[in-house]
Amino acid sequence: MEKQQITNDAKRRCYQCFAEIEPARMRNHVGEHTLKAMCGVPETLQGQHIALFEFPCGFCGRPERLCAASTLTKGINGSTPQARSECPYYRLFFYQPSLKSSAATPSTNVPVICKIPECKAEKGGNWSAVWKYNLREHILRFHPTYSLETAGSDGLIPLPPAMLHDMHISDEEEHGLKILKDCIPYKSPLPTLEPEASTSTSTSARTGAHRAKRRRTQKGG
Ligand SMILES: [Zn+2]
Ligand SMILES: [Zn+2]
Ligand SMILES: [Zn+2]
Repeated sequence: MEKQQITNDAKRRCYQCFAEIEPARMRNHVGEHTLKAMCGVPETLQGQHIALFEFPCGFCGRPERLCAASTLTKGINGSTPQARSECPYYRLFFYQPSLKSSAATPSTNVPVICKIPECKAEKGGNWSAVWKYNLREHILRFHPTYSLETAGSDGLIPLPPAMLHDMHISDEEEHGLKILKDCIPYKSPLPTLEPEASTSTSTSARTGAHRAKRRRTQKGG
């Protein structure tokens, strides 16, 4: 009488390499394929290659349009937010510890909330989320007026500092996911985070300050 879903403990076949993976290891496994694609590490795959511009699902690696978008629960009453998805490979994981790379689970690819003002939206009682490894592509596509450089030399709006932290991939994570040394990108130092600086007033103040700075730069050049 019930619909035949994938049994919780059955191994899952990776859409990229066809390996049979323990359900609890799937997110990390797909994270490795995705980060390799991001860093340009060549892979010989029997299945589909990761298409970064298609926002690959962090549970199965397929384009979001063929799978599902992730959300984050609101963490009401002090509970930790948790990731949700309709992906058939979805598996609940402990969200908070997954934000940090570990030897057992190097990948920190988890759904996060985009911190650019007015991007966050409600979806089925949760918050709309973006997979960490897809944030770069998300900014390019949906927030083209924002800068992906920490140096801010391109004249675009700097990202909220907390978002740079959300996007950060550590050396430990790259090593853990077998990124070849030559493929590891240069990382600018992360800005220090001001405590609780996320009100709309402080955001517009920051944008104003940036505009002034840009005018000065233009005058100089
Ligand atoms: Zn695989
Ligand atoms: Zn999926
Ligand atoms: Zn956004």
